[in-house]
Amino acid sequence: MTTDDETGDDRHECERTIDGLRVRIDRTLCVGFGDCVTEAPEAFVLDGENVVVFVAPESVGRERLLRACASCPVDALTVCDSDGTQLVP
Ligand code: SF4
Repeated sequence: MTTDDETGDDRHECERTIDGLRVRIDRTLCVGFGDCVTEAPEAFVLDGENVVVFVAPESVGRERLLRACASCPVDALTVCDSDGTQLVP
């Protein structure tokens, strides 16, 4: 098993497009407070390193998904609209 930052290891940064919203996790910023998990446990979970990963963000309604991302105290969750407009943070 190899891990190498230069290969763009998706454990550090990952992105999903859900219903026209582009949600990005910056795992280097996440400090594992879990606010987003509390708000939308269907969408986010903390992994073994206490850093957030996606579960099934498409199963959460748009408003709650936005609320969950906006709840992050360190802005580790970014949401953009389909035209690239940043909605969160
Ligand atoms: S709210 Fe932010 S810091 Fe807390 S678990 Fe979610 S992404 Fe990480």
